[in-house]
This record gives sequence, structure tokens and C-alpha cells, in this order.
Amino acid sequence: MNILLTGGAGFIGSHLCRKFLEKGHSVICVDNFITGSKKNVEELLANSDFKLIEHDIANPLYLGENLDWVLHFASLASPKYYLGQPIKTLKSGLLGTHNCLGIAKAKKVKFFLASTSEIYGDPLVHPQTEEYWGNVNTIGVRSCYDESKRGAEALTYAYMRQHNTNVRVARIFNTYGPNMQIDDGRVVSNFIVQALRGKYLTIYGDGRQTRSFCYVDDLVKGILKMMGVDYKKPLNLGNSFEFTIIELADLVLKLTNSRSKIKNLPLPEDDPKQRSPDISKAHKLLDWQPAISLEEGLKRTIEYFRNIL
Ligand code: NAD
Ligand code: UDP
Repeated sequence: MNILLTGGAGFIGSHLCRKFLEKGHSVICVDNFITGSKKNVEELLANSDFKLIEHDIANPLYLGENLDWVLHFASLASPKYYLGQPIKTLKSGLLGTHNCLGIAKAKKVKFFLASTSEIYGDPLVHPQTEEYWGNVNTIGVRSCYDESKRGAEALTYAYMRQHNTNVRVARIFNTYGPNMQIDDGRVVSNFIVQALRGKYLTIYGDGRQTRSFCYVDDLVKGILKMMGVDYKKPLNLGNSFEFTIIELADLVLKLTNSRSKIKNLPLPEDDPKQRSPDISKAHKLLDWQPAISLEEGLKRTIEYFRNIL
């Protein structure tokens, strides 16, 4: 298959590029490197099935190549970056999705949207099922990300209804692993980098808020399975084991043998208090569930950061 993947030089995107090439597909990777890095895909450049285009997908893109899929993963994804660049974030989610859907429509090919658990906001239903409509502050600081993805979902289903575009929507929950940037700012990479450098681990608020962490290989398997079935509604993809941020910090300290201390910093505005996916739909439809425990995934991620720090 010929696959167009936006955000392919990012954390999740670079794992997808590798996996697609391994499976014998061709990949056109579109990225403007705003949070990703050419380094993540550098070794793929020698592969004739891989093409890298530096482009901001908020602007239209015209490609001569035949395609089978358009996967839209380009977005600022870490609160550290989207809070600082709210307009770019909205443009990637709204204009970028519109441009990608335009390509999928013109080429008459399938479209895959990387959506997010953030569309549920600070959820009042726990764990979150796909039927839950969410609790989002539409004008809050995080709305640039949450609403960009909610708008992206709306655009996706508008194209499905009006143009019969064949769509997949994955609502991805907190995923971590190698190829995250050292300064990504999300909690897993922050804690690992801080622990390895002997710096304070920065817990925002009292650390009793929860997240459920999925190792990237498990997520990639879920994404590939979604591409293989004809199911057009959104699917939650993530690990359903829930941890408090304090528990995550303790585990990182144990696995890195670090003597770093904890420092509590103010909780960012609208930070969701709890998050865990109900993945029963994905389990049933895709025969998929995460296989890598937090401890195992952290060990692999710690190894990665040890090598690059
Ligand atoms: P990331 O920041 O590592 O990757 C995003 C990539 O998109 C980067 O390479 C960045 O340079 C690129 N990009 C951003 N805006 C662009 C634009 N306008 N044009 C071209 N390229 C652009 O983040 P990630 O964690 O790999 O996230 C990938 C996708 O998955 C995002 O859409 C994100 O919203 C979604 N997602 C990720 C998680 C997670 O926990 N990692 C959770 C939910 C959803
Ligand atoms: N967090 C933290 N310390 C950090 C980074 C994040 O305590 O150095 C907290 C953050 O406030 C949130 C959780 O960890 O409650 C997950 O944050 P992240 O930025 O990874 O992703 P989110 O799930 O909020 O999008």
C-alpha cells in the first residue's frame, strides 16, 4: 500500500513509518518538525519506499502519487507545546484535517484520524466509553487541543456523510516510549529524564490525578488492526490500567535507581482529574489489548533515554 502519514517524524508517527516499511508498504511522511525531529526517521531516508516532505499540513498539499491511505497524525500533542502555540494547534487539527480529508476524497482512499482521550475533557464518566460525549471547557486553555480534535472528528464524519469517505478514528490515550523528545514535556519522558539527570521530579498538583499509560508498540498494533477492519466509528486505543501520577513517579525512581526528590508544582488549569479508557470495543472488534505492562514499557523507555542523554 502507499500511505501518506502526517506527523510521521513525531513520536508515534516514526514508529508507524518503521512498521509500515517493515510490512512492505511505501510511506510518504509529511512533517514540519515543529515538535518532531528528522532524527526520528533519519535511518529510513535510505529506503526507496520512504519519502520525507517538509510541509505544514495546515496548508494544502498536492501530491502526484497514487495512495491507499491518508493518516493524519500531525498535531502539537504535549500540553507544554500546545498551550504555547494554541493557534498552530487549532490549525493542525482543523485546517490540517480538512486538507487531509481533501486528499483522501480526491484520491478516493481511506482516511485515518489520530484523535485523543482529550475529546472527553475532564471526564465525568469513568472509565471513558466511546459513547461518552465529554466534558470540555470550550474556552479554557486546553480547548485549542481538545476542540481541534473534536472539530477534526466532526470534519471526518462530515466527509463520511457527505462524500462517503471511508474513515477510521482512533481516540488515543496517554502513550509513551522511545522517540519521545527529551524536552517533550509529557509526564513519562519528564520523569525519566529528571530521574536520570538527578533532578527533581516535577509533580503537578498533589499527584493524585490518574492516567493510564500505553506502550507505543501496543498502540501501533492497535492502529494497524484498525486499518484492517471495516469499522468507521471512533475506537478508544490505550491501556486500561490506571495509575496516579505519584505511583508513576515512584515506579520511575525505582526503575532508574535514582535518588531524585519530588517537587510539587501548581496543577495546570483544567488538568483532567482521572482518565482511563474502556477498551472493550477495540478488544472485541480487533482482538486487541495491550500486552506490555507499565513496568516493562518504562524499562524500555528508560533504556532509550539512557542512550541519548
Ligand atoms: P509528537 O509531537 O511527537 O508528533 C506530532 C508530529 O506532528 C511532530 O513530528 C510534529 O512536528 C508534527 N506536526 C505538528 N503540526 C504539524 C503541521 N501543522 N504540519 C506538519 N507536521 C506537524 O506527538 P505524538 O505523541 O507522536 O502524537 C501523534 C498524534 O497522536 C497527534 O495527533 C496526537 O494528538 C495524537 N495523540 C497522541 C497521544 C500520546 O499520548 N502520545 C495521545 C492522544 C493522541
Ligand atoms: N504531570 C506532572 N508532571 C510533569 C508533567 C505532567 O505531574 O512533569 C501531570 C499532568 O499535570 C497531568 C499528567 O501528569 O496530570 C499527565 O500529563 P501529560 O502532560 O503527560 O499529558 P495529559 O494527559 O495531561 O495530556
